[in-house]
Amino acid sequence: MDFSDDELFRYSRHILLADIDVPGQEKLFSAKVLIIGIGGLGSPVALYLTASGVGEITIADHDVVELNNLQRQIAHDEQDIGNSKVNSCYERMNKINSHIQVNLIHAELCGEQLLSQVAAADIVVDCTDNLTTRFEINKACVKNKKWLVSAAAIRWEGQISTYHCGFKESPCYHCFYGGRKELNQNCSNNGVLSPVVGVLGSMQAIEVIKLIVNKGDSLVGRVLLFDAFSMQWESMQLPKNPNCSVCGR
Ligand SMILES: [Zn+2]
Repeated sequence: MDFSDDELFRYSRHILLADIDVPGQEKLFSAKVLIIGIGGLGSPVALYLTASGVGEITIADHDVVELNNLQRQIAHDEQDIGNSKVNSCYERMNKINSHIQVNLIHAELCGEQLLSQVAAADIVVDCTDNLTTRFEINKACVKNKKWLVSAAAIRWEGQISTYHCGFKESPCYHCFYGGRKELNQNCSNNGVLSPVVGVLGSMQAIEVIKLIVNKGDSLVGRVLLFDAFSMQWESMQLPKNPNCSVCGR
């Protein structure tokens, strides 16, 4: 495809990167990403992927914007209170980059709709805040053999990993987190430091871009843990569980 002068200028800082260049930017234009949850994590993911020129982005969230979201959910503003999160995020995305296709789903993605949306995407980004939904998204990704970039943040901490769901060498989300009910906490009960979700959401956007341009090392097989209080990152191996009830034999 031929880039217009405006496109070459707009994406020049990507194109200058040897590992992205024009072919990588073309891949970004052709990519389809599904972002589930447009809160603290989903906001930076949606905004960075929009600015990066990812060609088709589907955003799904059933919630409306509330005042206590504004502390960290940077896709929304005061005028959006009471409006659906997907609409307010779409308006922000459109102001940043009106040349990409954005699909809005104002519903809790589940069942058949979740499966078909996952099937239509190249990469799924889990930005939800509860374990039940996370397991369901993982199952849909394993079934459709999709990349899943998953993160979570609570208090001063966050974690992120990437799963090549349904592929032999990659664990799935359930391999590690299955049966660990103590993980079912969210920031509405425990609080979260505002920029911690920004750090983790930005890391998710980085993973997505690397997967699209097929460069660098992904987080498949390991999880990164971030502690903002001590300012430490830790990397932990994430082995596949051969007896996993979702992706095992
Ligand atoms: Zn598994």
